Amino acid sequence: MKNVLITGGTSGIGLGLARAFAAQGYNLVVNGLEKNGEEIADKLAQEHGVNVYFSPANMLQPEQIRQMVQQAAQQLGQVDVLVNNAGIQHVAPVAEFPEEKWDAILAVNLSSSFHTSKAVWQGMQERRFGRIINIASAHALRASEFKAAYVAAKHGIAGLTKVLALEGAPFNITCNAICPGYVKTPLVEAQIADQARAHAMSEDEVVEKVMLKKQPVKQFVDVEAIAQLALFLASDAAAQMTGACLPIDGGWSAQ
Ligand code: NAD
Repeated sequence: MKNVLITGGTSGIGLGLARAFAAQGYNLVVNGLEKNGEEIADKLAQEHGVNVYFSPANMLQPEQIRQMVQQAAQQLGQVDVLVNNAGIQHVAPVAEFPEEKWDAILAVNLSSSFHTSKAVWQGMQERRFGRIINIASAHALRASEFKAAYVAAKHGIAGLTKVLALEGAPFNITCNAICPGYVKTPLVEAQIADQARAHAMSEDEVVEKVMLKKQPVKQFVDVEAIAQLALFLASDAAAQMTGACLPIDGGWSAQ
């Protein structure tokens, strides 16, 4: 069975993906900053009868990223599927946007995916199989105000996805980006609370009038739907699908 490394795999979308891959029999390394990461990994292993390891590597630190990939390759035997999912957000007008937030968002949401991809590349090339799946965002395709760093990083991921697809093509390495609209995860729940304060609205009003304003299907995207798309992209059936930025956004990017 194949092996998958998921950054940010101990919360939200990443954890949903981890569950779905484990349910299909994949062995996993899940990475994240959650303090109970080991516990989460053990639970996944028990529930699905697969091997699951936890890595607390910080995606701000290229050296830790390289070590994580090396360790994952040792623990799993090899990394067949890489899911670049770790991400952070900060919402502020550009004139007030803190420089350190810009740097951190670019590092976690964009540069870490370059470092992980570079680190798995040679093994995938030698084995003539690799699947790199970037969890981008509708913000890889569209902009929103007050999200300068996030939108820049996610547009950057769309570019990286295309380059890796071209370079991977001769080696059966595919690279695609999944571009979700709003998904109700801890990252978004924090935003709902922040936006409610900023707009002096109730949290329900924020969801309806601010968040889902751009999402014609007035519902959050299901983590399970993202997971099913990722499983497909990881499969042999998706060998000819590469370099794509795939919206799963309730119609947001149709506008
Ligand atoms: P989340 O906050 O639930 O999970 C983020 C994960 O990334 C956590 O496991 C966290 O520990 C990890 N992480 C953050 N900084 C890290 C660091 N420095 N080193 C290692 N791990 C780090 O958020 P989520 O909503 O599940 O987001 C996952 C991905 O999906 C992100 O890339 C996000 O941009 C993207 N996304 C989310 C939404 C949404 O609406 N939730 C929509 C589109 C795209």
